[in-house]
Amino acid sequence: MTDGNAIKEALGSMDAGRVFYDEKMSGHTSLKVGGSADALIVIENEHQLVAVVRKLREKNIKFFTVGNLTNIIVRDGGYRGAVLLMTGMKDIQCRPLAGDNVLMAAMAGASLAKVVSQSVAEELTGVEFCAGIPGSVGGAVWMNAGAYGKEMKDVIQEVDILDTSSMKRVMSRDEIAFSYRHTDFPDRTIILGARFKLVKGERAKIKERINDIMKSRQEKHPLEYPSAGSVFKNLPGMPAGKIIEDMGLKGTVIGGAEISPRHANFIINRGGATAADILGLIELIQFRARKEKGVALETEVVIIGENECSEK
Ligand SMILES: Cc1cc2nc3c(=O)[nH]c(=O)nc-3n(C[C@H](O)[C@H](O)[C@H](O)COP(=O)(O)OP(=O)(O)OC[C@H]3O[C@@H](n4cnc5c(N)ncnc54)[C@H](O)[C@@H]3O)c2cc1C
Repeated sequence: MTDGNAIKEALGSMDAGRVFYDEKMSGHTSLKVGGSADALIVIENEHQLVAVVRKLREKNIKFFTVGNLTNIIVRDGGYRGAVLLMTGMKDIQCRPLAGDNVLMAAMAGASLAKVVSQSVAEELTGVEFCAGIPGSVGGAVWMNAGAYGKEMKDVIQEVDILDTSSMKRVMSRDEIAFSYRHTDFPDRTIILGARFKLVKGERAKIKERINDIMKSRQEKHPLEYPSAGSVFKNLPGMPAGKIIEDMGLKGTVIGGAEISPRHANFIINRGGATAADILGLIELIQFRARKEKGVALETEVVIIGENECSEK
């Protein structure tokens, strides 16, 4: 059990950068829900990250690393501990390799939008599939994010991590087991950045592919409402959205949350939703899928924090 004071004391006189105590996570999650974290620490560089992480570990203070919070539900009771927000570490650099290959090195906090725009600027093909995924590089690597037939594993060459002993290490792609929206990094590993192997291409073709993807997203996804993208993982050969739609659950509402009438695997915040509303819909879908279809739907979204009744 921690609170803001324990974190304040732990960080003491060290230069921890920008720290916000008792910070409402609803202001940071793409779903616009979530109670307060004891502290939100904005990470600007590796040196600060290592110092903060070592101190938190030394003082036994729980922490959780996040990127853009586009795949996270923070429960209404908030998070007891420190949330490390990586979006201050955002540099991207490219260097040529042999032939037409180029290595793009992106820090964990860089947005995928920037990765995509940089690939257009430098005429590189390989990351078009990231267009419209609103996450950071760290979050995308951790989740093995993917879309339109490709995943992060298809372009990752190496990943820089801070391991569970707070030591920096480079992991080659072969050392990481990637599966559908999952990687096997040990719990509490922090991703510092990644290098992607891309290939020189034609700017017009790269742009065309990105535009097609963005158009398809506009058509299929309820982008006008806050969401966390797809809530459930698809089952082999059976999209989760189709299962939910077949059960007639599109448009089901709890409080301010709704199973999107446009895409059944999206739960949207129509205004004023709580995390409990969203979790209520998740439980309802899982219950009905087990009962009516005999399948267990696993969440793709990551759920953290405490229920409201346990808030300080
Ligand atoms: C409208 C919309 C569309 C989406 N479309 C897609 C899609 O097509 N495909 C897809 O895969 N996803 C999609 N998503 C989900 C989400 O954007 C991705 O999973 C994205 O990769 C998450 O990145 P993030 O930075 O927001 O991660 P967060 O939500 O901040 O974190 C997600 C997980 O990654 C971990 N994490 C984040 N950064 C680090 C780090 N530096 N080190 C260690 N762990 C870290 C967190 O601890 C957490 O477990 C969509 C979301 C939305 C809202």
